[in-house]
Amino acid sequence: MKNGEAVKTICVFCGAKPGNDPRFLQAATEVGQLIAGRGHRLAYGGGNVGLMGALANGALAAGGQVLGVIPHKLLERELAHKRIQQMDVVADMAVRKERMLAVSDGFLSLPGGLGTLDEFFEVLTLRQVGYHHKPSVLLNLDGYYADLLHALQGFSVKGLVDRLELDRLLVATTPAQALDQLEAAMSAPA
Ligand code: AMP
Repeated sequence: MKNGEAVKTICVFCGAKPGNDPRFLQAATEVGQLIAGRGHRLAYGGGNVGLMGALANGALAAGGQVLGVIPHKLLERELAHKRIQQMDVVADMAVRKERMLAVSDGFLSLPGGLGTLDEFFEVLTLRQVGYHHKPSVLLNLDGYYADLLHALQGFSVKGLVDRLELDRLLVATTPAQALDQLEAAMSAPA
């Protein structure tokens, strides 16, 4: 962030599990550190588990501001992070996605499972019908999303996925590149 610029909120979606490759945890930690180090605020699902926990702890360790948005049901399971500065407890998963979309300037999806995919696609589907114009970056770490990207290209060739929407999706291979792409897109006019 440059002097005089307003703080941007970056929403990160990622796995609630750690996965079985230590590079996932390393990348999640690094993304948290980079978001904080570059003067942005992190918004995420509020959990202290798996890649989500590593992400939040990375941002906190680098002195960053962290907002969690968590539904009651997950809070009750005591998986909520206890040390983040702000936790918004919301009614359900749908309200959580709505809140995350409203408070964030850009979105970054790291490796994750069904929850991450749901959040990633929600941002894209709401953008394609014009509910927002915010950028989305997919971190294709070690080719994690290669098959998904290939499938999307195939759907586009068959005429059911809009080519333009795929072109708008930014794909990065490293945490630093993901942040560079997101920052450039957040500062560009919509
Ligand atoms: P998954 O990719 O299936 O591991 O789900 C992770 C995504 O779903 C995150 O981006 C969260 O927003 C949400 N989520 C799943 N589990 C939790 C949890 N225990 N605490 C908070 N959010 C969660």
